[in-house]
Amino acid sequence: MSLDITRINPAFADVMPQEYKDLVADGPFGRQLGVRDLGTFQELLEEHPLCAGCNLALAFRALVASLPNPEDSVLVGSTGCNSIAFPQLALHNVHSLFGNQNAVASGLKRALTLRFPGRVKDVVVVAGDGATADIGLDMTLHSWFRGEKITTVMLDNEVYANTGGQESGMTAQGEVRNMAPTGKKFEKIRLPDLAVDAGCAYVAVANTGNLARLGKVFRRAVLVAREVGPTYLQVYTPCPTNLKMNPAGSVGLAKERGKKDYGFREHLTPEAEQCLAAREGTAGSGEEEKNAP
Ligand code: SF4
Repeated sequence: MSLDITRINPAFADVMPQEYKDLVADGPFGRQLGVRDLGTFQELLEEHPLCAGCNLALAFRALVASLPNPEDSVLVGSTGCNSIAFPQLALHNVHSLFGNQNAVASGLKRALTLRFPGRVKDVVVVAGDGATADIGLDMTLHSWFRGEKITTVMLDNEVYANTGGQESGMTAQGEVRNMAPTGKKFEKIRLPDLAVDAGCAYVAVANTGNLARLGKVFRRAVLVAREVGPTYLQVYTPCPTNLKMNPAGSVGLAKERGKKDYGFREHLTPEAEQCLAAREGTAGSGEEEKNAP
């Protein structure tokens, strides 16, 4: 998508939905907005159908508000609770079969690079723990081994939430779920460590307890993927429905885990450090970012 496509043809102006008019008049396209600006502009994800207090929705909202160039970005999703929000997303997006998201994103990135030479097109995978670390682990790892210039974001709620609560590879050892009543028998998969070993240029772990930081590291992941290589962001996004907790307490849980076993960490290769040193100084101007090599 380019900014021209978002403009409304005058012949159809009177029949366009108000939400679309608002998006064109006051959306994030062509502007440099972020988490701190939420509430001041027409967002790309609104009126999503996820449960009250769902931290997937919270993280998703923060991520799309932090895209450096939303008009030139494509999101690739997979099966999971978060995929139910994709149809509400005012952004180009693709739904892939369960687990195939990194393979689809790789092909898409390569095709966009050929189709639009000289123009930056960010391709970002947003998927859950089951799609990324269980069913799609093969595709995830191999996209990293191949050095695909895409960002992978795992929204980790440590459960297969929309099929009733099976344990996932990301569920912590000993944790009980609806359909795992005797507790998880093996350790949580250490995907951030695997991402480093598999060659990701930038890897970060964050949680929904600090949205400003989440927005910042997401933006860093996208900028590094553009120029250097694959990047991975893992976000703890508790599911109050499966955890049977008051939705109002779910962000508190994310903060609590952030202080214990789900703390913030970041890994950058020297090339990623160089890239960010050069780009973050100009992060306020989209054109410089878009025209970067
Ligand atoms: S079941 Fe859990 S992860 Fe799924 S939408 Fe509801 S709160 Fe979110």
